[in-house]
Amino acid sequence: MKKILIIHTGGTISMKEDKITGAVAPDKENPLHGTTLSMSNIANIVVEELFHLPSPHITPQEMQMLRQRIEDGIRFDNIEGAVITHGTDTLEETAYYLDLTVQSDIPIVVTGAMRSSNELGADGPYNLISAVKVAASDDAKGKGVLVVLNDEIHTAKNVTKTHTSNIATFQSPQYGPLGIVTKRGVSFHHTPVQRETYNIKSVTKNVLLLKAYAGMDNLILQAIRTIPFNGLIIEALGQGNLPPSMVSGIKSLIENGIPVVLVSRCFNGFVQDVYSYDGGGKQLKELGVILSNGLNGQKARIKLLISLEETTDLAELQLLFSK
Ligand code: ASP
Repeated sequence: MKKILIIHTGGTISMKEDKITGAVAPDKENPLHGTTLSMSNIANIVVEELFHLPSPHITPQEMQMLRQRIEDGIRFDNIEGAVITHGTDTLEETAYYLDLTVQSDIPIVVTGAMRSSNELGADGPYNLISAVKVAASDDAKGKGVLVVLNDEIHTAKNVTKTHTSNIATFQSPQYGPLGIVTKRGVSFHHTPVQRETYNIKSVTKNVLLLKAYAGMDNLILQAIRTIPFNGLIIEALGQGNLPPSMVSGIKSLIENGIPVVLVSRCFNGFVQDVYSYDGGGKQLKELGVILSNGLNGQKARIKLLISLEETTDLAELQLLFSK
C-alpha cells in the first residue's frame, strides 16, 4: 500500500455546527480523525495537523509552509502522495500555488467540504476518502495538483468555486473535470497538456487585484498608489478591455515598473489584443499590459506573486503568462 500524507489546514471540513445558534466554527478536536481510521484498506496513512485555520485566514506564507511540508515529506518520509484538507473559500488559490511550486510529480490532492462535520449530509468524510483514493492512484501521478470534491477530479489550474453553498461548487469552466471517483475506483478521461513549476524560496511581493466595471475611472489607480505593491491584476471587461479613463493610470503604473496583468471577468475564454479603441485590449497591450492565458483573477494573482520572485522583466512576464 502507498504511503499517503494527509495534511489538515482547517476549513469547514474540520468544523462543527453549534446546534443551538447554527454557527459553524472550529472544534477542539478535528472531527476527521475518525474518517482517517477507516481508510487503512486504501493506503498507509500519516496524518498531520499543520494549521487549524478558516481559509480566509490563509496567506501565501501558509501556502509556502504547506509546500515545504509536502517537499519534506517526499524527501525525508518517502511519501508517495499527499492530501490536503482546506477551507473551500481560498482552496483554489492554495491548490494553484502548490501546482506552481512543488518540485515533484507525486499525486497531490486538495479537498474540502461545504457542510461541517455534524450537519445533515456532511460531505467532508466522503471527500476526504475520495481524495485519498485519487492520491493513491497510479494514474494521478504527473497530472499536477488536483482538486477532488463531490466525486470529481479537477486541475488546480482550471478549477474554481462557483457556488456559495452547493456541494457541487467546484467546477472547471471551459474545460470540465479530468476524471471521476466512483464506488469502484478512480477514472481519468483527460490529461493536462503541460505543467510549469517555479522553485521560489519565499513570497516577498505584494500583488493587488481589481475588478473592472462600467464607468470605472482612474481614481482607484491613484488611490492604490498609497499602498506599497509590486504588481496589479485587473479582471477586465470581455476580451480584455477597460474604460478609457483608466488608460493614463495604467500607463503610469507600467512606466513606474509595476507590471499590470489583464484577465477577464468572464469565466470562459482568453483575453486578447482585439479592440483598438481607447481602452481596448490592443491599445493596452501596446502600452505594455500583460495579457493572461485564461486564468481567473485570483489565480493570476498567485502566478504573478510567484513569477515576480524570478523576474520583473515585462517581456519575460508576458512569456510566462502566455503558457
Ligand atoms: N468559509 C469556509 C472556509 O473557507 C468555507 C469552507 O471551508 O467550505 O474556511
